[in-house]
Amino acid sequence: MSRPLPSTSPHRRALAALVQWFDADHAPGGAEKIRAEPDGVEWVRCIPFLILHAGCLIVLWAGWSPVAVGTAVALYFARMFAVTGIYHRYFSHKTYRTSRAGQFLLGLWGATAVQRGALWWAYHHRNHHQHADGPDDVHSPHVHGFWWSHLGWITSRRNFPTDYSKIRDLEKFPELVWLNRFDTVVPILFATALWGAGWLLERHAPGLHTTRWQLLGWGFFVSTTCLFHGTSCINSLAHLLGRRRFPTADASRNSWILALITLGEGWHNNHHRYMHATRQGFYWWEFDPTYYGLKLLSFTGLIWDLRPVPASVLAEAAAAGRVAAPARPGGAGIESAPPSCA
Ligand SMILES: [Zn+2]
Ligand SMILES: [Zn+2]
Repeated sequence: MSRPLPSTSPHRRALAALVQWFDADHAPGGAEKIRAEPDGVEWVRCIPFLILHAGCLIVLWAGWSPVAVGTAVALYFARMFAVTGIYHRYFSHKTYRTSRAGQFLLGLWGATAVQRGALWWAYHHRNHHQHADGPDDVHSPHVHGFWWSHLGWITSRRNFPTDYSKIRDLEKFPELVWLNRFDTVVPILFATALWGAGWLLERHAPGLHTTRWQLLGWGFFVSTTCLFHGTSCINSLAHLLGRRRFPTADASRNSWILALITLGEGWHNNHHRYMHATRQGFYWWEFDPTYYGLKLLSFTGLIWDLRPVPASVLAEAAAAGRVAAPARPGGAGIESAPPSCA
């Protein structure tokens, strides 16, 4: 009879990582013990992430069509909205309200972004705000460097588990916990649906000159990979590039370029100053399409009570004038006040 493998053996760790592809809450020894470990890349656990990138190569032999590329672009923005408007502004910060059924629908939409479950995402994001650019911020470019903040941190074994004790307000909903635990279910169904839609178009609308492999390659792999890197720019570049309006204790910055590719998340210094507002562009000239989309959704009755930016915060911005002192050495930024800032 073979001896049981010790919990720290490479074989056992690899096996646990394999199980975690399908059950994200599988944590032999306990999630707390894993979270206390030093950073280190867990390659077996990362294989789906590598497949996501490698899958983009499908388009090399599948080719392209306006329908396939258009699908990729549309799904990039529809799911960027899901990340910013749902995972970030709802699950992480509760900047508006919805019903329990509405919350589940939003959770499903968010899951199509393939950025794991809403609870895992919200837990890490709240942790970021709590420790921003300090030693316990797992994706600070100032503490860990650019590449670690951009993608390295999600490959680290200690960052895979969800710490449910830190998100009690979300943990009490079993349907959300299920989506979070089995976080590959929605992405697999989503990819399969795209492949199926491509098959139907190939068969019934040959004039569109698209195929099932094009829709899978462009609509899922290319779009999702771009979505990942677009979102990750907020963890990495939004703490490095741009200007600072508020002298927050972190190194967050406002960047209109990042706001364009992330549908409004580039106003990151605003957001770090006041994370409870639904809008992150505090003024009309700060382009924030996520906020406009949420405003439209509120007209349908799906969501309500969008939280405004308090007058005191806007007064603070006006009082800060044109210059906000940098929080960290070497990163000075001057905020150019737009004409009607005050
Ligand atoms: Zn930040
Ligand atoms: Zn946030």
